[in-house]
Amino acid sequence: MLVTSLYAQPSSLAIGALATVAAATVSAWIANLPELYVAAVILMLIAVARIVAALGLSADAEGNSTSTLELVYEIGAFSYALALGCTAAFTVLIGTQTQVEVLMVANAIGYGIGVSARNAGRLTIAIGQLALASVPIALACFWTGKLGFIALGVTILLLIPAMISIASNIFTVLRDSIAAAETSKKLADKMQVLARTDVVTGLANRAGLNHAMVETMMGVNEDSRLALIWVDLDRFKEVNDLLGHPVGDRVLNEIAKRLSAVSPKDATVARFGGDEFIVFCSINDRKDSELLASEIHAEIMRPLRIDGERLEVRASLGVALLPDHGKDADTLMQSADLALYHAKVGGRAQTCFFDGSMTRDLVRRREIEDELRAALQREELSIFFQPIVDLETGRIKTFEALVRWFHPEKGELKPDEFIPVAEETGVIVTLGNWITAQAARIAATWPEDVTIAVNLSPLQIRAPGAALGIKNALREAGLDPRRLELEVTESLFIEDNHATAAFIQELSDIGVRFALDDFGTGYSSLGYINKFPFSKIKVDRSFVSGEQVGRKSDAIIRAVAEMGHTLGMDIVAEGLETIEQVQSVKDAGCNLGQGYYFSRAVPDYLAAMLLAQEREQEGRKAVG
Ligand code: C2E
Ligand code: CA
Ligand code: CA
Repeated sequence: MLVTSLYAQPSSLAIGALATVAAATVSAWIANLPELYVAAVILMLIAVARIVAALGLSADAEGNSTSTLELVYEIGAFSYALALGCTAAFTVLIGTQTQVEVLMVANAIGYGIGVSARNAGRLTIAIGQLALASVPIALACFWTGKLGFIALGVTILLLIPAMISIASNIFTVLRDSIAAAETSKKLADKMQVLARTDVVTGLANRAGLNHAMVETMMGVNEDSRLALIWVDLDRFKEVNDLLGHPVGDRVLNEIAKRLSAVSPKDATVARFGGDEFIVFCSINDRKDSELLASEIHAEIMRPLRIDGERLEVRASLGVALLPDHGKDADTLMQSADLALYHAKVGGRAQTCFFDGSMTRDLVRRREIEDELRAALQREELSIFFQPIVDLETGRIKTFEALVRWFHPEKGELKPDEFIPVAEETGVIVTLGNWITAQAARIAATWPEDVTIAVNLSPLQIRAPGAALGIKNALREAGLDPRRLELEVTESLFIEDNHATAAFIQELSDIGVRFALDDFGTGYSSLGYINKFPFSKIKVDRSFVSGEQVGRKSDAIIRAVAEMGHTLGMDIVAEGLETIEQVQSVKDAGCNLGQGYYFSRAVPDYLAAMLLAQEREQEGRKAVG
């Protein structure tokens, strides 16, 4: 900036040059000295060269390094000052007319002083110019030996230290103000960067994301394809609660690093509140975004190591694409948010792409959420019972309790619709306790050898006091704990949770039994079958009546049944609808069955009737 100040206002250079060249020409004409004409021409040439250089160089200042600019200026400035000083000295030396001497000396000194103030940005140039313009005059003055000239020579020499002091003052002021301007610009830039950065992870924050989105959206045209991937860590609150916030922060940091590494170079990666991240980038097509989403998912699921502890994080992803799912930033965010919501309520640890039907679903979900609490009090919920039958004897061994909601306006709601909402909102704890209490109360009225199976959500089990809730339900109903069976799914064991193990231990100690539900649909890691005291495995109905049924699923049922026998466990086939299915699972080695073939889930009085019928038939058989 200091060097640029030399080139600022080339007009002042031009005016100065014009004045001195004019002075030299007038002097030459008055004194009629050819040397002065030569001097006027030299001055003119230097001046023109300098003006041309100044215009040419500053026009594309980018291409010229500071030092070239400075050197060019230096050569021009010094040669001009020297030429001017020597011209004036010459008039003094040869003792021409006084008016000529005054004209040239005044011009040279005036030029030297003026220019040294103007060029204070570069002190050597400023003082050099003054010295070159004035020292030759002072020397010429001394050479004449005349008292007046000697006095002039001395004052001229005194000018030099005076101007050094003035110019260096100007220089300091100039430099400091430039520095201050630079500092405040730097500070402002830094503040802006800080305001857009997340402190924990160093990624962009909400403001940074907004900024990046606005910038990107401005450059969007018809061919642009963008993806907004909204990542939400599943149950991250538990990490924070169980391991503490510092560990939580480190997990967030590691996830942030992985996200940045896996995302394309031009992507904006942001942390969007608590445990949510957003990756925003351009893509070629939908396939591209699917690939990216699955890479992101895989990266997050890769086990973490914090202080030597292995930790598994899972995440749900919601993806929205421009232009298909929104043409502006807001709509795109809303679409991704909806898609994410779907991924979460659809069982978490999955990716959902936005689709148009999501809006309707969401409204219904929100309604359910609002009404579920009230429904419990208004007794709109009830428990139905579906028998689990011994495939050898046809006797009912167990009833599975399945919750039903009879909504005054919406009609019968299936648990698949409201259990996820209850889990999402935490109502599942109250709801679950209520279900267990009801189921236990009714089971207590059945014959001693019939047991009751109750489904438990993982969230319900991890809630504080979960085991106590079950014990209370048993005590109040007066039901033998050995007649209660709790159905849990594999998803419970994804996270190696101490509370889960303690819950299972505490209840199995008093005789409660555990069944592994929906076997084959989840992670199917057999490790926990040995680790926990399961007495029953329920093979998911997709192996019995799903699309993939065939030799392969038959082989799987066989393998599970064999393992069950070895470990002394019951094997239940779920979803039996036809006699053929019953026959085939029986052949495969399952000893229990459940499904519409035997009975749908029925209300308590019908369950009691089924049991009574069965006993009556047996009684008749015994008599007959
Ligand atoms: P689940 O534990 O696998 O329950 C079996 C589901 O399969 C029940 O659906 C049942 O009606 C259905 N089903 C039984 N036999 C057949 C058949 O032959 N064919 C077909 N297609 N389906 C059959 P439901 O009652 O809609 O329950 C769905 C899921 O909701 C349950 O799956 C369970 O995970 C959950 N759920 C139900 N009641 C409760 C509860 O009280 N608490 C909790 N936490 N979850 C529950
Ligand atoms: Ca079940
Ligand atoms: Ca099941």
